[in-house]
Amino acid sequence: MTEKIDILSLSRGELQSEIEALGEKKFRADQIYDWLHVKKITDFSKMTNLSAQLRERLVERFWINSIKIKKRLVSDIDNTVKYLYELSDAEHVETVLMEYKHGNSICISSQVGCKMGCKFCASTKAGYVRDLTASEMLLQIYESEKDSGRRIDHIVLMGIGEPLDNFDNVIKFLRLMEEKPDMSLRHISLSTCGLVDRIYELAELKLGITLSISLHAPTDELRSSIMPINDRYNIAELMKACRYYFDTTGRRISYEFALIDGVNDNKQTADALIKLLKGQNCHVNLIPVNAIKEGVFKKSRSVEAFKEMLCQGGINATVRRTLGADINAACGQLRRDNQ
Ligand code: SAH
Repeated sequence: MTEKIDILSLSRGELQSEIEALGEKKFRADQIYDWLHVKKITDFSKMTNLSAQLRERLVERFWINSIKIKKRLVSDIDNTVKYLYELSDAEHVETVLMEYKHGNSICISSQVGCKMGCKFCASTKAGYVRDLTASEMLLQIYESEKDSGRRIDHIVLMGIGEPLDNFDNVIKFLRLMEEKPDMSLRHISLSTCGLVDRIYELAELKLGITLSISLHAPTDELRSSIMPINDRYNIAELMKACRYYFDTTGRRISYEFALIDGVNDNKQTADALIKLLKGQNCHVNLIPVNAIKEGVFKKSRSVEAFKEMLCQGGINATVRRTLGADINAACGQLRRDNQ
């Protein structure tokens, strides 16, 4: 028997082809799409404008993926909601919902675990388990919207996992988002630790998303000491790819810089960062590092001073507001605690 198709991972066009292959008219695919993505039903039997016979054939050929809330933490300070979701194979991922002045933003996971091994990150501590499917990325949004009653305006691929290490499924997911009348790819950011080959591939697709680069250090020596990926693609290669991304897409790169006490928060590092980014049309997002249980790193005490140094050096920098401080929003920590 052939495996059933994960229907929520199909784009509208793919769904049309599948439905036509069953000998059905194209408008049936639109009806099904509406049940799945507008009414968001979870069972073929509820698709009441389809014949019982067609519904049976759908059940034979497709399945509707779902995810369950395993844990929900709500911040008393700023309404941030952190979800631990259970996937259909009982693996877990995290999703965070945040309120900003300009709307609601959701941070979704792209893999169960991570291979990248960044020293300060909880998501990678127990290694990599598997990639998420497009439907599992989508369902983090659908379930969080349903549970919270909030409408999501911005999406960041910044949860557990390295999105460019799950390239095909992430692109599928972005294509699903592109089809939504109330979502624009300009409202989506993808964060990567710097898989250079994939950055070039992504640039060619000209999707209009914002690319965030987890830089965290301006020299190879320092970066390699906290991010193993730097031994595969060094900073010069990464910068070349970033310039290419900007030249090809016209989208300004956002660099993330997690400030760690005594590691990368001194004047020498700021000067090296200014030199590295000078002349690039970019933005630096400074994040006081979240201390994790397994780690030795502590939050920097000179975040504002570091920002001032960058700004005086002509680099556009802001400090990311800390959200959900009372619910420990450090990425990957909730899943780790559950294990
Ligand atoms: N793998 C991707 C996306 C997931 S991590 C990436 O590396 O970009 C999302 C962001 O959180 C990255 O910038 C990552 O470096 C950062 N991050 C991970 N652990 C952190 C911690 N303990 N404190 C602050 N930022 C952290």
